[in-house]
Amino acid sequence: MTPLAQAVAADARKRITLSGRTVPRPSRTRVLTVANQKGGVGKTTTTVNIAAALAQAGSTVLVIDLDPQGNASTALGIDHHSEVPSIYDVLVDGEPLADVVQACPDIPRLLCAPATIDLAGAEIELVSLVARETRLQKAVAAYIDQRVAAQDQLDYVLVDCPPSLGLLTVNAFVAATEVFIPIQCEYYALEGLSQLLKNIEMIRNHLNPSLHVSTILLTMFDARTRLSAQVADEVRTHFSEQTLRATVPRSVRISEAPSHGETVMTYDPNSSGALSYLEAAVELAERGVRAQTTEESA
Ligand code: ADP
Ligand code: MG
Repeated sequence: MTPLAQAVAADARKRITLSGRTVPRPSRTRVLTVANQKGGVGKTTTTVNIAAALAQAGSTVLVIDLDPQGNASTALGIDHHSEVPSIYDVLVDGEPLADVVQACPDIPRLLCAPATIDLAGAEIELVSLVARETRLQKAVAAYIDQRVAAQDQLDYVLVDCPPSLGLLTVNAFVAATEVFIPIQCEYYALEGLSQLLKNIEMIRNHLNPSLHVSTILLTMFDARTRLSAQVADEVRTHFSEQTLRATVPRSVRISEAPSHGETVMTYDPNSSGALSYLEAAVELAERGVRAQTTEESA
């Protein structure tokens, strides 16, 4: 078979095994921060598509957009012009998260706390506030409790971070227990990764002992190039436990979806990009349930 025929056959197999399936729901809400200090590596794309895939597979998912650019809000079709109540109001004014959460128009069970342009100033405004590192964590914990009390448990919170280690990202690391790192299969992919790991270690030591890297996803993977294979090998060697088997290919459909205010999961659900994100989401869900079971029986 030619490589193209192989790819088509692989997609067809994925479609059959994945379409319409549901994933096991975690016993407790999992809070994941999607982080990588490099920009343009697929953090936002991964956040919104994994969130959409999990929601489509029956989970309740909240995306917190913590990047002043608001790209995650845009991709989820969420209104985020400057007057919209947003994560800024939660972080800076202490408003309840429930007051800013919006439902994604295309996908049931998918929620978003949007970012507006105000958030660009929050990095500086937070500096002089009390408990400046734990503001998001408190808001998320209160919202999770509220949902539990209403017998409508959230399954996942995914936080989309800006590409820097400022107070916004620190807030995300303190609010989460899991770090989810997308790695682009390109030159210098691993550059900056050791710095990211050092920062996570620092947060663990000082602010959040439960934080750990639970998940790594290889994105913009090109099966035809040796470079992609080399990066993938290296990542799998160092992080065999954390790296998902699924990889996300470079795909025009993935990059087009946000300009339609959609994730690729609704924009082109049968594309190889959508199938890969669905495959990754299934793995993430199944691993999480396994980890929670091990933890609970320990
Ligand atoms: P980050 O949030 O890390 O800055 P983005 O998710 O915004 O990165 O992705 C950067 C750019 O790459 C965006 O234009 C996005 O549409 C594009 N992109 C992301 N993943 C893919 C992919 N698998 N195939 C093609 N383009 C992609
Ligand atoms: Mg982004």
